[in-house]
Amino acid sequence: TVNSRTDNLNTEVVLPKAGITGLLINNEWRTPAKGQTLDVENPSHRERLATIGASDADDVNAAVAAAAAAFPKWRRLASRARGALLTELGNRVTANAEEIARVLAAESGNALRTQSRPEVLGAAEVLRYYGGVIAEQKGETLPLGPGLFSYSTREPLGVVGAIIPWNSPVVLAAVKIGMALGTGNTLVLKPAEDAPLAVIKIAELATGLFPNGVFNVVTGTGVDAGAPLAAHPNVAKVSFTGSLEVGKLVGHAVADRIGHATLELGGKSPCIVYPDSATPEYVDATVTGIINAMRFARQGQSCTAGSRLYVHKDVWDVVMTKLVAKVKELKIGDALDESNDIGAIINAERYSEVRAFIKEAIDAGAKVLTGSLPSTIDEAKGFFPEPVIFAGVDNSWRVSREEVFGPVLVAIPWSDEDEVIRWANDTVYGLAAYVFTNDITKALKATEQIDAGWLQVNRAGGQIPGMSYGGAKQSGIGAEYSIEGALEAYTSRKSVTINV
Ligand code: NAD
Repeated sequence: TVNSRTDNLNTEVVLPKAGITGLLINNEWRTPAKGQTLDVENPSHRERLATIGASDADDVNAAVAAAAAAFPKWRRLASRARGALLTELGNRVTANAEEIARVLAAESGNALRTQSRPEVLGAAEVLRYYGGVIAEQKGETLPLGPGLFSYSTREPLGVVGAIIPWNSPVVLAAVKIGMALGTGNTLVLKPAEDAPLAVIKIAELATGLFPNGVFNVVTGTGVDAGAPLAAHPNVAKVSFTGSLEVGKLVGHAVADRIGHATLELGGKSPCIVYPDSATPEYVDATVTGIINAMRFARQGQSCTAGSRLYVHKDVWDVVMTKLVAKVKELKIGDALDESNDIGAIINAERYSEVRAFIKEAIDAGAKVLTGSLPSTIDEAKGFFPEPVIFAGVDNSWRVSREEVFGPVLVAIPWSDEDEVIRWANDTVYGLAAYVFTNDITKALKATEQIDAGWLQVNRAGGQIPGMSYGGAKQSGIGAEYSIEGALEAYTSRKSVTINV
């Protein structure tokens, strides 16, 4: 239900003081060289929230030059000393979590209680995780017999350019900062143009904490700031999180100079419900799991959204009846209203794209179990489409194949275990998968046979610091959130052999 309650709602947010500039270079907040700006909107209200600097190639050059100049000294610092600064930043984020979370809710449309606040607290955990674990950046020795001594070290790559999306900007900024700086690289971070303010608040907390040039931020659009960063000859590695389409462009730009790239891209993740998980004892937990997997709390705008639901035909009625009832109870509205479970879609363009997916499926005869065609963008007061669940579709429909990036779930009944696993794999993506069963044999068969980077059984939670997370197939290259991911993707090996 759309919740229009706004009485007594505290809509106040403390914007970052540096917001108007948006460029952090050498620990100094600057305005873009040519003085361009861009507006950041609050999608819950369709109103301007702030105006920030919009960088272009000249500003990116300045930030990369600062990061390159800082690299030789930073890489030589003991990893524990670098880690201590990450831990301190994590503690500062925790101490300021509520202010950051309110800005995040206002700019991203992600509800404060269900999404924005937990995200900020999780980001602080990620920073502290890397702050501690980075001391494990060790090399190896190889015994070669008398007279030869061989060892290897892990070397940082240089300047890392990180480009992040708007759907979970704070935790993604924390991941990139933790991995890049922890391993001894310096960083130029470009937040998304739709949600840069909470990241700027974190950068304010980091100002002066790291030596000059170690951590830099350039705000701006993908074309004007992201593309020059990805293509910059002095950027040794690009760490990109975003769409498959832009990920391909970034991959090409990096390949041109044999650079390193981590690509964390989209998904169309399956969620399979086995009959034993829908007994009276378990069905409620399974239905909650389906809702969490679909990431309705983020309006479905999540790379890991379990947006293809496969329910065994024997339990279809009980699961779908309960699911529809529970989804109808979800409250949608202003992201800053604590009583709302679901906030707003990020912007007008994405809202219209989600609406077009819904319209196409309805026109083609899909059965709408809950939700409806959202109003057109001209009629809509905020970008609040209700969650939609479609039945009467199969894997071949566009709505079942493409990443909608909105609150749209397709539900398909199954009866044969091998067939449903084939359906689960019938996609170019391979990011996440969810399996609900208490039968260990079925669970292990599914986790073995489904091609995805991250599988969860009887759980549909967020990423866990320490557990590698990254996509299979076209969902990406590289893993994040773990020390292994950081070492593999943000360092190169140097081998030394000495004839004693
Ligand atoms: P997007 O690809 O449009 O934008 C992501 C970032 O890239 C933004 O900062 C944008 O400014 C920048 N960008 C745009 N064009 C660029 C270009 N030509 N060169 C360089 N940079 C450019 O994605 P989005 O709409 O912001 O985010 C949604 C997408 O992100 C979805 O596909 C989602 O699945 C994916 N995502 C993936 C993960 C993951 O961990 N795998 C996490 C979150 C989001």
